[in-house]
Amino acid sequence: MGSEQRRGIRLVMRIGIVGLGLMGGSLGLDLRALDHEVWGVSRQGTTCDRAVARGAVDRAGTDLTLLRGCDLIFVCTPIALVVPMVSQLRETLGGDPVITDVASVKGSIVGAIADRRFVGGHPMAGTADQGIEAALTGLFRGAAYVVTPTPTTDPAAVLLVEDLARALGSRCYRCDPVEHDQAVALISHGPVWVSAALVMTAAAGDPAGVSLAKNLASTGFASTSRIGGGNPELGLMMAQHNRGAILGMLQRYRQELDHLIADLKGEHWDRLEAYLQQTQEIRPQFVRSLSESI
Ligand code: NAP
Repeated sequence: MGSEQRRGIRLVMRIGIVGLGLMGGSLGLDLRALDHEVWGVSRQGTTCDRAVARGAVDRAGTDLTLLRGCDLIFVCTPIALVVPMVSQLRETLGGDPVITDVASVKGSIVGAIADRRFVGGHPMAGTADQGIEAALTGLFRGAAYVVTPTPTTDPAAVLLVEDLARALGSRCYRCDPVEHDQAVALISHGPVWVSAALVMTAAAGDPAGVSLAKNLASTGFASTSRIGGGNPELGLMMAQHNRGAILGMLQRYRQELDHLIADLKGEHWDRLEAYLQQTQEIRPQFVRSLSESI
């Protein structure tokens, strides 16, 4: 199927989505816009009804057997449920659909699933919101989409997931699951805690000062605090499943803060200026493809 897509003949598939929240709903909106037939399963019947009403899926229900006959299934549940969900899907559905996930950690998930037709995936897109009402069209456009195959993963399954990711407008990357987890600790999972600590610091001063700060806060605080004010369940699961890499990042971050505090105390303005000149130069290498509003 993948090679025909690359030759420019876009195949219409029946795609299943398990977990109709921000990610699952957003995938459904875009996949339906690409003319795929999308069937969804979620935990709550009310979520399924809203997903149909919002146009994220053609049909939805709470029973996994609904996904029989799907060519490919995205597992978009919370991180801790991905491994049991993949084995439940295999047991329930029969056939040989490609199964992929979108979870933010890959090492523990990919290491626990010995299945040639499972492709670990992680679209690097999201918002601070959760649930079906938070689903957005175009969420994956311009974003990186990581796939983490192992030596035993079926190459055709990998190509199929990558073809779909490209059709969503994403840039595809392949890497080792553990290398993925180390990289995202630096630019996503660790910064959640940095940003959360910033929010707590701002809220912890004397009440009058905090009250004034709340009124004065503008775009700078909005962008630096955004991921610290996001979905707590997701932040916690990322920490539980990528603990070592996040700890490493936060320890290095604390060292940076210690150096900055020492330079401020010592009024080493030249050093501090050089530091900011360096960060001004380096930052675009990380965010060049993103809008400045992020
Ligand atoms: P979310 O908005 O909370 O959606 C998760 C959905 O999973 C919920 O709506 C819930 O559906 C459903 N669910 C929970 N238990 C289920 C079960 N047993 N069976 C079927 N469905 C179940 O969370 P999300 O942000 O989309 O995150 C989902 C996945 O995407 C996570 O693995 C996360 O790591 C990954 N991810 C998130 C982001 C981000 O920025 N948010 C970015 C990249 C990847 P009900 O409403 O029916 O209860």
